[in-house]
Order: sequence, then structure tokens, then C-alpha cells
Amino acid sequence: NWERIREKLRTEYGEATFNSWLKNIELEKIDGGKVSMTLPTRFLRDWVFNNYANRIRQLWCAADDSVKSVDIRVKPLDRKNGAGHKPTFGLGEITETFKGARAVAAETAGQDASLMAPLDPRFTFDNFVVGKSNELAHAAARRVAEAKDSVPFNPLYIYGGVGLGKTHLMHAIGHAIAANCPTKRVIYLSAEKFMYRFIRALRFKDTMNFKDQFRSVDVLMIDDVQFIAGKDSTQEEFFHTFNALVDQNHQIIISGDRSPTDLEGMEERMRSRLGWGLVADIHPTDYELRLGILQSKVEQGKIEIDPRILEFLAHRITSNVRELEGALNRVLAYSDLVGRAVTLESTQEVLRDLLRANDRRITIEEIQKKVAEHFNIRMSDMHSARRARAVARPRQVAMYLAKQLTSRSLPDIGRKFGGRDHTTVMHALRKIEELRQQDVALAEDIDLLRRMLE
Ligand code: ADP
Ligand code: MG
Repeated sequence: NWERIREKLRTEYGEATFNSWLKNIELEKIDGGKVSMTLPTRFLRDWVFNNYANRIRQLWCAADDSVKSVDIRVKPLDRKNGAGHKPTFGLGEITETFKGARAVAAETAGQDASLMAPLDPRFTFDNFVVGKSNELAHAAARRVAEAKDSVPFNPLYIYGGVGLGKTHLMHAIGHAIAANCPTKRVIYLSAEKFMYRFIRALRFKDTMNFKDQFRSVDVLMIDDVQFIAGKDSTQEEFFHTFNALVDQNHQIIISGDRSPTDLEGMEERMRSRLGWGLVADIHPTDYELRLGILQSKVEQGKIEIDPRILEFLAHRITSNVRELEGALNRVLAYSDLVGRAVTLESTQEVLRDLLRANDRRITIEEIQKKVAEHFNIRMSDMHSARRARAVARPRQVAMYLAKQLTSRSLPDIGRKFGGRDHTTVMHALRKIEELRQQDVALAEDIDLLRRMLE
């Protein structure tokens, strides 16, 4: 049975995913309907458990109806006869910088799976819900994925805050290309992994091979490029890879947490290259999109749930899609455990901490509104070019509070104030800081505003 299930997994998820994650699963025993399987590292085990366990369980149950439970444990490989398992020599330093288990797992698992990081089978275009905030990024991703012999824009640069679907879109492109043009060589990996591979190549004096591998692909996707900001030699290598691929007219897709121009610690020539093609940003979600995403999850999982619960979640969990999904899962897990249907009360109870954290998040618009009200100026003056003291000062106060109360960067804040640049914002912050020391009334105004906003 296990051999047959293995083959099924291999065809369902594809060779690359199978080799990276599933190949090393070993069947330990079947005892009274309990299937025990093992993987050699904690990281592998957790990853497989979170991403593939359901499918593996289904396949087991379908193959053998005496199976009641399926479990995956960690069982380190026996070094002496652990076929294919390389001892982690030479990895000392790197392992430490790269969160231990992760680097080691990449080493053991990724060995023959070329450079490709595995694609999550759930991250497809079908599972991606489109709304106003992500329609440009989605359309661009689709265009790139469907282009057979052309390169619509190079690079495609997708950026946005955490948990808004950048990785999802990139994996979706990977899946679509694998389906439409199976002969194309596609590499998807995080910038972090790119750097790790590069350092390893340096250590093993294998940079020629490294360069060849990256420069011979048809499509290169690098996720979270902000990671290599400030990492000069990796940036340098990436820059050359980038140019080589663009010269050959091969598609590059990059994601980051901010726009190319805002990538501090990134060389100017790199920033400008990143902006050459199409830059598509994903904005924070709106209510309709959040509700749509929840509904799609519920339909996919064939879950029964009161629609009012979904509306409640869409209203209250506004931070990002990852948290939204997490909230839904928590509510469902709870009701599963206690064996009762989800109610609004139980939802509020289970998510208390999350709801509080979401409520506390203050937006720049709220700050502008409160400050404008307080100083009796118009909201539009927050964006206008007027420099009269009566509007300029409150505007500076609002910038100051935006810096203190939100996690937005200076360029981000400038943009929200009628497209001012970050030096203007910096000037405002200094000015207000200075005035606070001298002007008691202003200091009190600021304290009051802050208390009202918090
Ligand atoms: P990012 O890479 O931008 O931090 P991810 O792509 O990892 O975010 O998305 C976080 C989670 O939210 C994933 O589980 C993803 O499937 C889900 N998600 C994000 N946007 C959407 C969307 N528009 N439709 C469906 N799921 C989404
Ligand atoms: Mg991501």
C-alpha cells in the first residue's frame, strides 16, 4: 500500500515537490489501524505535517479502510548507513545564521531537487481571490504565467505588506507554467535561500556551477528580495544574474515588502533595474475581499458555518490574509475540539487576543482625521501643498504621530501626505520633536491626540 501511496503523491505533487519533502518519509509500522511514519528532521516533519498530512491521510484511508489514524514522527537517520544523507560538514556558521534546522533540512532535502524550493500546492490561481487591492498584481502574474514565447514585462516586481498574497501569486505562476509549458525551466526561491546557496557555492568553490544553474533558467522567481538589502556580495551576484537573464530575454519575477525605490540598503543600480519592468503593488485588503477569501475557504473545505461569523471575522481581522485564515482555522479547531457549532460568542472568546491586536492597529488616515479635527483644518489640507503655518504645523504633527503610532516607513508616510518625499517627513519629525521641548501647549496637544488615537 505504502508504495502505491508514494507513487500517487509523486504524480499529484510533481517530481520536485516529492523529492524535496515526501521522498524521505518512511513507513515504520501499522498497528491496530494506526499508521506510523517517520521523517529524519523536525523541520521536514513539521512542514510535511502542515502541508501534506491531510492528503496522505486521505490516501491511506482510501487504500485501507482499517486505517484509523496516521502519524508522522521525527526519527533521525542512522548516520552510518543513512543512504544519501550527507553529514552537515562545513555548514557550521551558515547553519547558525540561518535558523539551524531550516538550513540543515534544505541541505538534506534539497540535494537532488535542483535549486527549486517546493511550490505549495494550495497556492494556485484558482484559489486566489481577486479584489480591488490585488487585481493589478493578479492580472500581471496571470499575463506572465500565460505568455508562452514572449516576456510581457521584465522584471515583474510585486510588492506589498506581509500576508497579502505575494508568495501565493508567485507559486501560482510556477504551477501555471509547469502546466502550460512543462519544458520551461522555472526556479522559485526566496532571496534568503539565494544568498545561502551563493555563500555555499563560495565556500565550496563552486561558483561557476552556481552561475550556470541560475543563468540557464527560463523563469527566475525571487521572493522577499528585501532580504538581500545590505548584503553586498549577494547583491552583486544577484545583479549579474539579473542582467544575464534580462539580456537573454528570460522572465524574472521578484517580490518585496516595499517598492524598488524604497529598498534601503539596496544599491542604486539594483533599485533602478528592479523598476524597469512592471511594478505592481498589493494594497491592504478591503472588507469585500476579506469576506470573499473566507467564503472561498469555507467552500473549498466544505465547512458548515454561520455566515454571520464570516462577516464578523471580515470586519474585525483587518491586518492581513494570513491572520484572517489563521483566525478562521482557530475558530474551527476550537469548535471541533469542544464538539459544538461555532457561535459569535465562542468566536469572540477564542480570538480575544487577535481581535485586540487588530483593533489597536492605527491607520495614517485615522491620525490625519483626528489631527485635522483637533486643529480645525480640512482633511484635504493633509495632502495639499499649502504651507501656511496654520495648516503646515498640524500636518507635521500628523506625520509625527504617524511615525510614532504606526510601523510605516518614512517614504510610506510621505506618500500618504500628498506624495511628499521622505526628507520632508524627516524634517517634520525633527521640527516637532524640537517644538515639543519649547511649546508646552503643543506638547499637550500631541499627548492628548495620542491618547485619543490609542
Ligand atoms: P505574503 O507572501 O505576501 O506575505 P502569502 O502569499 O504567504 O503572503 O499569503 C498569506 C496567506 O494568505 C496564504 O495562505 C495565502 O494563500 C493567503 N492569501 C493571500 N491573499 C489571498 C487571496 N487574494 N486569496 C486567497 N488567499 C490569499
Ligand atoms: Mg511571502
